[in-house]
Amino acid sequence: MIYLDNAATTKPSAKALERASAYVTEKYYNPSGMYKEGFALQSELKKARSVLLSKIADESAFELIFTSCGTESDNQAIFSFARRGNAVTTVGEHSAVTAAFHELKTRGVAEPRFAPLEKDGRVNVQALLDMIDEKTCFVSVMHVNNEIGAINDINGIAKLVKQKNPRVIFHCDGVQAYGKIPFKLSKDVDLYSVSAHKIGGLKGVGALIKRKSLQLPPYIIGGGQEGGRRSGTENVFGIMHFQYAAEEKFATLKEDFATLQEYRELLWDLLDKEVYTRLSAKEGTPYILSVAARGLRGEILLHMANDKGLIVGTGSACSSNAKNRYSKVILACGHDEKTADGVLRLSFSPQTTKEEIVQAAAILNEIGRELARKMK
Ligand code: PLP
Repeated sequence: MIYLDNAATTKPSAKALERASAYVTEKYYNPSGMYKEGFALQSELKKARSVLLSKIADESAFELIFTSCGTESDNQAIFSFARRGNAVTTVGEHSAVTAAFHELKTRGVAEPRFAPLEKDGRVNVQALLDMIDEKTCFVSVMHVNNEIGAINDINGIAKLVKQKNPRVIFHCDGVQAYGKIPFKLSKDVDLYSVSAHKIGGLKGVGALIKRKSLQLPPYIIGGGQEGGRRSGTENVFGIMHFQYAAEEKFATLKEDFATLQEYRELLWDLLDKEVYTRLSAKEGTPYILSVAARGLRGEILLHMANDKGLIVGTGSACSSNAKNRYSKVILACGHDEKTADGVLRLSFSPQTTKEEIVQAAAILNEIGRELARKMK
């Protein structure tokens, strides 16, 4: 099976599993336990926090709080800080942010505003800034778009947002960027969400990175773990596995970036241009190539590819149950419904091989031509 749906989730690192296994078999204690085994785990969690944070942030200015997933991190950021006036985000966000923004309106907390996108999927920065006024309390802009792969210049955008209104809390959903894109958090970013399973970690482990000087009201309350900011017994095994997976991922980040850029371009070169149109820009993440088989149904192609041993996505796996047939992100990039209907998202990992890329292109061409013939 060739797996090209790595933006949905990645294969957990086997090496990290081996390293972390002792946290299930032997070191299974509660890290809040008052005995020395509990204290030992507390200090291991502290180290994991420091390792994961130091990869993208200055530890003297930022801290990291473990959560259960990227969705929780996004929700915690939004519901903790979007408290009055209006809150501004983009049309391109993952449903973890979009749905939470709509919920702000339902709960009568703040008025949500959605900035449009450029054709390549990046936010239209001027339009975003125009939506910010003296009543704006919170702004959220994703780092890498999960459907089309566009990269927003987060530090640059955060700086402009703060210039317009210094009181704004700036959040970024970094789930598709962490461990994949060379990046360091600037002082203008207040909150940054990450998730383990996008980089060889396990599902059900995430983190919210926050500027230290920012008081984070808890979203989940109870036993007071994570310094009272996120209650619930820590998933020690998942967290340790996240640390080890991230160590592996960051060690080869630059090489992986260059290799996958080459593979993404190779795949595009090999695809039949009579069938497929490219949606992802060259400047986007090398981890995602979004194409459209215009006039064909992406979902049918997905199943045909599946039968031939190739796994691909059609957009965000997390929104595959959504009632809306067309991706709002693809439409917001200015594409028509016929294009939006035929979208395939091909997403890679450092484990993807050149041979797999060549085989995947052959399968995609074969099924695309076959379906086009049937549709005539
Ligand atoms: N944000 C983005 C950009 C994503 O791609 C995803 C998952 O696809 C999420 C948030 C949600 O992360 P999780 O699956 O850890 O809840």
